[in-house]
Amino acid sequence: MLLTEQEKEKALISQLTEKHAHQRSALIPILQAVQADYGYVSEFAMQHVADLLGIHAAEVYSVATFYQFINTKPKGKFIIRLSRDMSSIMKGAKVVARQLENDLGIKFGETTPDGMFTLEWTNCIGMNYQAPAMMVNNEIFSNLTPQRVHRIIEDCGEEFRSHRPTIGKVGDTFTNTLTYASHQANSGLKKALARSRSEVIGEVTASGVRGRGGAGFPTGTKWNLAASAKADTKYIICNADEGEPGTFKDRVILTQYADLVFEGMTIAAYAVGAREGIIYLRGEYTYVRAHLEEVIEARRKAGLLGSNILGKEGFNFDIRIRMGAGAYICGEETALIESLEGHRGEPRNRPPYPVDTGFNGKPTVVNNVETLATISVILDRGSKWFGAIGTERSKGFKLFSVSGDCTRPGVYELPWGTTLEQLLALVGGEGAKAIQAGGYSGELVPASEFGRVLGYEDLGIGGSVIVYGQERDLLEIAENYLEFFVEESCGQCTPCRDGNVKMLEGIQLLLKGKCSTRYLNELIGLGETIKLASKCGLGQSSPKILLAINKHFRDEIMARPIEASH
Ligand code: SF4
Repeated sequence: MLLTEQEKEKALISQLTEKHAHQRSALIPILQAVQADYGYVSEFAMQHVADLLGIHAAEVYSVATFYQFINTKPKGKFIIRLSRDMSSIMKGAKVVARQLENDLGIKFGETTPDGMFTLEWTNCIGMNYQAPAMMVNNEIFSNLTPQRVHRIIEDCGEEFRSHRPTIGKVGDTFTNTLTYASHQANSGLKKALARSRSEVIGEVTASGVRGRGGAGFPTGTKWNLAASAKADTKYIICNADEGEPGTFKDRVILTQYADLVFEGMTIAAYAVGAREGIIYLRGEYTYVRAHLEEVIEARRKAGLLGSNILGKEGFNFDIRIRMGAGAYICGEETALIESLEGHRGEPRNRPPYPVDTGFNGKPTVVNNVETLATISVILDRGSKWFGAIGTERSKGFKLFSVSGDCTRPGVYELPWGTTLEQLLALVGGEGAKAIQAGGYSGELVPASEFGRVLGYEDLGIGGSVIVYGQERDLLEIAENYLEFFVEESCGQCTPCRDGNVKMLEGIQLLLKGKCSTRYLNELIGLGETIKLASKCGLGQSSPKILLAINKHFRDEIMARPIEASH
């Protein structure tokens, strides 16, 4: 008997929910799998998923619509997502956008009448030093020019495959040699397993290493708290949701040094007593997944994952991959855990902290990709070696993703304590007007302050450095940032949800030279309130760009000519 389309879809959903043992936490992977087959998740599919998971359909809808990469309406066979991060805009993304619109005969946000192409803007896809860049479905295309996108569109279909980039072809190179390159495979893990759990935590604590994702929390303290928590189950989560605009070093580590990351996760699991590890990989990095699966499988075969790892009786640990679905806020660790549990990625109130009550209510260590890779090296070479690098309060080396107006963009490994001036000389960015240190949520540093240092005593950033040359219009930059924050706000708290919209409107008035001094002062007041009253780092950071421009470049704003109205 022939099944109707709806019966086939129902059968698929039944299979998927059974595979995931009807767990609520599997909601997002189930929706992603339905979309992989049908191109989108229909209301019919959402209702059936809800029935089988025993939750309300409205809940499924609320989760599905939260994530940019889950389609609740049909889209084109090829979804083109052009990155609108500032580095892409500076390198010509708007010209590329016009070419795409002309070639396809549609505007952004539309689908061609034949259902072949959907055109969308997206936020940073981690290709800032090869900007402009876009995704076509899950494939990445970088260093775009109008001619190149014209060819890519022509080649979609059979020819599209021949343009498919592999990890090597994306052209990632480190601009200086990384310490990771000389790491002897699994030497850190072997040395860890020869010691007691508390000795391993002691070594990490003594090294002074702090979280490389941006928050800078001492890793040894985090591990100690999770190790001390009383629970039958604990988790190690690798935060690979690198969404801070201008950051791409974690993607490069994952493509070239994935073994070190998994080695670090395994050391963490041993130290805190976890049996399960999850790597939360951002949806934009889907093309890296197959490579990571291969590395995980090779580690299982080599006895580096699974039962009695490296012969250590009773030490069992394995790692699985969970895909993100396009939400910047999931880089925040409690939002990430919400997402893993199948919910909207909305940050939780803290306390309790994840080391106490994390994934599935169990003690959970969430560490960034770079932190975990660095832990492997520390366990091998020792805390003394690591602590001798950097400064008194900022130990070790750090990776920086550098993009924008410089001649040598890329990933740089530098000791903490390096000044912005030194960094600019290395990357060919001398004479810059300002630097955005730490991505959009970081700090705009004017040229007069380039003597400042990278380190927790001053700029303890997660790794994104965007260089702005003299000719850059800082208000255009601020508009780009606020558009990003408005789109990525999870909407939970009013100062962030509504305040950022007001900030954006104000910046647009400033751009037109139509903002009075009084209104500007009110905007600055609003910015201070958003910073103070927002629940998480997004709202606490979003006004920083306007506050910095007002502080360092106020004359430039006020001298702006009034744009004629049409
Ligand atoms: Fe959500 Fe913004 Fe509030 Fe953070 S500050 S919880 S992103 S609304």
